[in-house]
Amino acid sequence: MNSNNNFIPYYLRSKLSEFGINNKQQLLKHDYWLVFQWLKDKFPSISFNYLFDLFCIYNAIEFSNLTVQDKVKIKHEYKRQTPHYAPLKSESIDYYLDYASNVAQQNGTDIPIGAVIVKDGQIIGCGTNNVITTNNITHHAEIIAINAAAQKISSHRLDNCDLYVTVEPCLMCAGAILQSRIKRLIFGAVEPKTGAISSQYKVFTNNNVNKHTEIIGPINTKYAQDLKNFLQRKR
Ligand SMILES: [Zn+2]
Repeated sequence: MNSNNNFIPYYLRSKLSEFGINNKQQLLKHDYWLVFQWLKDKFPSISFNYLFDLFCIYNAIEFSNLTVQDKVKIKHEYKRQTPHYAPLKSESIDYYLDYASNVAQQNGTDIPIGAVIVKDGQIIGCGTNNVITTNNITHHAEIIAINAAAQKISSHRLDNCDLYVTVEPCLMCAGAILQSRIKRLIFGAVEPKTGAISSQYKVFTNNNVNKHTEIIGPINTKYAQDLKNFLQRKR
């Protein structure tokens, strides 16, 4: 490999351009293992040689100087990371969170939290909390959306599906998200009292249990407003 500072081999450069990365400077803004995760999501058949290539570029060393032990170490470092997939456009994140928020607002009598599940750009399940109206503590928006999506695609595994929910999921829903192997969880606002993603628990940071779900959020505090208003009215 050419050790020239700005050199990225063509076969790699053409793939990196998919992520708006066109030179070494842009590449070095992200961790090498993260870039490999993006590539793996977009081009599933690529080999670990791409990971080793990236490592060499980042560390300005020659590919031919990598030993077998180096490669084992690099692979180990990569496998320690929590999952990341090709980045989503911020417009589509806003669109689906707003959609989930609208679903929640249509529900006048129960806790206004909304969730949608998206697969290949299509909504395949929605849910809103029905706990009070059904006397059923499992009827959280996320679980209702997961059940609807699973029925729709006739599979209990939702590994190519993204779940958008207006507020941070609780421990029960985090468990359901983990079990269904949702690809990405995108949440609007934090839920400081019961949140199990970044507030009271950090379920998905344990990569002994999570090999599938990427966490994106919190996106915007505005998604907690309906919930706040609802709770104030209840008091
Ligand atoms: Zn929940």
